[in-house]
Amino acid sequence: MFRINENYLQLNQSYLFSTIAKKIEAFNTANLESDLIRLGIGDVTLPLSPTVISALHSAVDEMASSNTFRGYGPEQGYDFLRNKIAEIDFRGRGIEISADEIFVSDGSKSDTGNIGDILGEENVVAITNPVYPVYMDSNIMRLGKSSNILLLTCSKENGFIPELPTERVDVVYLCFPNNPTGTVMTKSELAKWVNWALENESLILFDAAYEAYIQDANLPRSIFELENAKRCAIEFRSFSKNAGFTGLRCSYTVVPKELKVRASNGDMVSLHGLWNRRQSTKFNGTPYIVQRAAEAVYSPQGQQETQEMVAYYMQNATVIREGLIGRGLTVFGGEHAPYIWLQCPTGLDSWAFFDLLLEKCHIVGTPGVGFGSAGEGYFRLTAFNTHEKTLEAVERITQWNI
Ligand code: PLP
Repeated sequence: MFRINENYLQLNQSYLFSTIAKKIEAFNTANLESDLIRLGIGDVTLPLSPTVISALHSAVDEMASSNTFRGYGPEQGYDFLRNKIAEIDFRGRGIEISADEIFVSDGSKSDTGNIGDILGEENVVAITNPVYPVYMDSNIMRLGKSSNILLLTCSKENGFIPELPTERVDVVYLCFPNNPTGTVMTKSELAKWVNWALENESLILFDAAYEAYIQDANLPRSIFELENAKRCAIEFRSFSKNAGFTGLRCSYTVVPKELKVRASNGDMVSLHGLWNRRQSTKFNGTPYIVQRAAEAVYSPQGQQETQEMVAYYMQNATVIREGLIGRGLTVFGGEHAPYIWLQCPTGLDSWAFFDLLLEKCHIVGTPGVGFGSAGEGYFRLTAFNTHEKTLEAVERITQWNI
């Protein structure tokens, strides 16, 4: 009889989005002229920029001619894109990352979920609470619910920045700007983690999916801005939230060649080599047309359009943040991230606030407890709706006698 990976049976059923969907359905049935505003979505809403669309059209035309048709590409990504990433995202900001340290992929969800393939099962893995659920679930799939998974509580008290572990930790996931709390780490806060990792021979898995939302040039957009981080970190970047590629699918992961660890036979092993082997075995590359679209993001026009999209969402974030603060609510994030994390008023729990906000203001958000137990009593609103709907939502909350 064959067996399954029973670790899958240990996963928490994710009722979050299905419960939200059911509640919305019930609301819409009871309110036929529904004026519901959705501030729960973590997906972008603006269309792809004209420069990206034009690059897609050209690439599609190339595929139509036998002279320019492309079949399988390099599993690591085409040089035209890897070179642009290295030049603009890194060297342009004073960071030495070479093109062959960049692995183009179809999404940071895939890469943050798959990175465990190259890590040992005996590692103690630290994950923040609340968290982007992929880190937790992909570790449970691999290890089962294990005492080797340690939660780092992020609370109002520590400003939603995890404290350095006092016990052994071999691998830690850090995501800044953070989903769901919208908070950022300063360079000196991140430097503490880099130093800790170097001292303890630990690995930092740094998710920078929201780096484009950072408004302050002094805040780190890449962990590799920190000295020696190349010896202890892997970084995940995505085109989803900066350039609207959530449906197109493109991302990249930086695995520096300096990142090495001693194997049990005493040899020093490069994680770059392992990830290269993993990707070339299990992944056949991001579509050519998508990589051409991603390349277009780096053209001067593409850069400008991308910045405009981010600015559009950040205007919404400011409207929500300032509106809620004006209403007397306790609010975090929203300054360098498209997420606003608010403390539910009057001691309400996350779901009770969800129900009230839906009933009284006809607004949908995401209960904080859906991101982990430490999210209880909090609520996430996102900046991904239109200006008009965002203003209307804040107006409704302002008028609401909570
Ligand atoms: N990392 C974080 C923290 C996210 O919030 C998301 C998406 O919401 C992702 C990664 C996934 O990005 P991608 O669309 O590249 O898979």
